Amino acid sequence: MPSDTTHSDGDHRAQALRRLLAQVRATMAESQNVQQRLDRIVEVIAVDMVAEVCSLYVRRAGDLLELFASQGLRSDAVHNTHLRIGEGLVGDIAAHARPLALSDAQSHPNFAYRPETGEERFHSLMGVPAIRNGRVVGVLVVQNQTQRHYTEEEIEIMETVAMVLAEMVVGGELVDRAELSPVDGLGTLPLRLEGLRLHGGLGMGKAIIHQAFYRVDEVVAENITEQHELLDAAYLAMHGELDTIMSTSELAEAGEHRDIMEAYRMIANDAGWFKKLHGAIDTGLTAQAAIERVQNDLKSRMSQIADPYLRERAHDIEDLGIRLMRHLHGDKNASGNNSLPDHIVLVARSLGPAQLFDYDVSRLRAVVLEEGTPNSHAAIIARALDIPVIAQVKGIMARLEHHDLIVVDGDAASIFLRPGEDVQQTFKEAIEERGKQVRAYDTFRDWPSRTKDDVDVTLSVNAGLLVDVRRAHETGAAGVGLFRTEVSFMVRPEFPNVDEQEFIYRKIFDTAKDQPVVFRTLDVGGDKILPYWEPEFEENPAMGWRSIRISLDHPAMLREQLRALVRAAAGRELRVMFPMISNVHEFKAARALLEIELERHCSRSGKPPAKLVVGAMLEVPALGFQLEPLLECCDFISIGSNDLMQFLFARDRGNPHLVERYDTLSPSVLSYLRMIVQGCEKKGKPLSLCGEMAGYPIEAMALIGIGFRHLSMVSSSIGPVKAMVLSLDINSLENYLLPMLSAGDLSLRSKLRCFALDHGFAI
Ligand code: PEP
Ligand code: MG
Repeated sequence: MPSDTTHSDGDHRAQALRRLLAQVRATMAESQNVQQRLDRIVEVIAVDMVAEVCSLYVRRAGDLLELFASQGLRSDAVHNTHLRIGEGLVGDIAAHARPLALSDAQSHPNFAYRPETGEERFHSLMGVPAIRNGRVVGVLVVQNQTQRHYTEEEIEIMETVAMVLAEMVVGGELVDRAELSPVDGLGTLPLRLEGLRLHGGLGMGKAIIHQAFYRVDEVVAENITEQHELLDAAYLAMHGELDTIMSTSELAEAGEHRDIMEAYRMIANDAGWFKKLHGAIDTGLTAQAAIERVQNDLKSRMSQIADPYLRERAHDIEDLGIRLMRHLHGDKNASGNNSLPDHIVLVARSLGPAQLFDYDVSRLRAVVLEEGTPNSHAAIIARALDIPVIAQVKGIMARLEHHDLIVVDGDAASIFLRPGEDVQQTFKEAIEERGKQVRAYDTFRDWPSRTKDDVDVTLSVNAGLLVDVRRAHETGAAGVGLFRTEVSFMVRPEFPNVDEQEFIYRKIFDTAKDQPVVFRTLDVGGDKILPYWEPEFEENPAMGWRSIRISLDHPAMLREQLRALVRAAAGRELRVMFPMISNVHEFKAARALLEIELERHCSRSGKPPAKLVVGAMLEVPALGFQLEPLLECCDFISIGSNDLMQFLFARDRGNPHLVERYDTLSPSVLSYLRMIVQGCEKKGKPLSLCGEMAGYPIEAMALIGIGFRHLSMVSSSIGPVKAMVLSLDINSLENYLLPMLSAGDLSLRSKLRCFALDHGFAI
């Protein structure tokens, strides 16, 4: 719905700006030669801005900025003064694509003195980037002798004028257009870049550069009323499109995705943003230019936002700007899916939550982001879809052409641009090999997970989103061994209330059908940050105030979650487990809150769960030495080996230097785990392990060898681990492995590997 923005023509600033724009445009259209016109334009701007100096720097090949025209600086400096991008204040403005306004420019650390310009007399400086189609093509500067404080309004005027001048630059009048192409000479060479792994796997395909900007056809409006109407119409069309995405996308059905989209639409409805767009039209811009103008401003502000939540929201607004621009151009389909190659690698600076749905996900082979964080919405969804994602690949957007071939090695967090034949061949074979394996796993999807010597080993999946739960069915797993409830908290704009939580959990139950789901209560803190929850500084967050410790200190919050779970489970079996329990007392305190909620529910005539099963996650080593009393009050144990390993070895799980330093297949770890197995066997209580190690065949084999009969893992591991289980003879494995637990070896990995290969176990 278009806002009730007042399209006021009376605004003084808008009028002043319109006058200046008209003057600049009239000068641009005069018949003198280009240099004369430019000289006249900087003169007009200097007068209007009441500045002694106005200069225009234009970007040239080799990332240089050349002084192209100046009113006030020495005329022999024109075309002779050059600055590198990033050099001096002007270079700084271009490098960061953001304005600078300084009352005492010379005291700024980046000030670079150029004697040929005679600028030592001028104390204050304000400069803005001239941006066109997302690229800085020049810098427009004014300077004053006095220590002048430039106002926000003046900066905005300069930014708008700079947009108009950018038109001249890209029009090819000043420099050859080729000089402005994205990559200076690097555009065809093979290149390897590295980033941050957000999700592993291999992918190869043609690069589709996510539409980061749209062409602005006309900058200055002929008819302002018409431009307001065009904007309103595009805004309505955009809303219609968002409705369609929400109702038809395969991922947008009720559940977390719907919430993401709702949050996104809230931003789309934000009157402030829409009002700004109309305000920019009031200054004389076309609707297209108004969007570019507001989005440029947003980008420059965004680079200064530290708060990760606000940054994500700013990305959402950016995404909406692109969407709106597309509607102004009359393009219905963002991605033109019909003309897309069959295998695509989506490359974007960052992705808004709805943007992934613009593409046919069945063609998506990988996602590469120039920015992007593990908690960004698109990353969470891509992970759930099992698409490799690499983030923080610096400079990728500038080095790429549409449809360039890209190979993405998600496991190694590297990408190959325009790879040579040999690299292509290697990856093709690796991808084919993986594909073959996946198809082979399908053949035994419905077979019982049973070893050769007839021992059943239950394999479940770890999940965090609804799609993960669906994948449990696809892989033939026995249910969800770990449902990380915090993931659905992380993708929301605010803390979900009881009703919202109940809705999510009910949906999970429905999707899991009659298979068991183990709900783990909120496990935040450490590396899991809720975007709306400001973390306190801690020296050692992994060992700090996190997980059940937070929940027990905020019993109302934990009770709300338990209430939602109890309600959602009506008539079904409810399995709950508490994370990071350090002693029996903590478990009892948490369980007591669950009992209270159950009683409360029943006292209000709520339908109770058919059965209640309550477990503890063993992640803190000390708990292992309180197993007997724990098992008196606890129905099952699940080992969170990711955290347990970091505490057993005093090794930060996120520290890349320590990844390979200590092996989980060491006798010490396996002995500790064996002690837990025996403790649970003695009490007849079920035990499972749900850390990453359960998903690797050789680790899973060792775990089965020491007595585990239930493992929970990412869905893509079910196939390979099941293949291993089907080939296994537990009896001979136990005979080999158990005597080695008391040995002083650093690791048993190579011995286990040789043993498995000798016996035909599929590791
Ligand atoms: C673990 O620590 O092993 C675990 C399963 O929990 P998370 O990885 O979510 O901390
Ligand atoms: Mg954990």
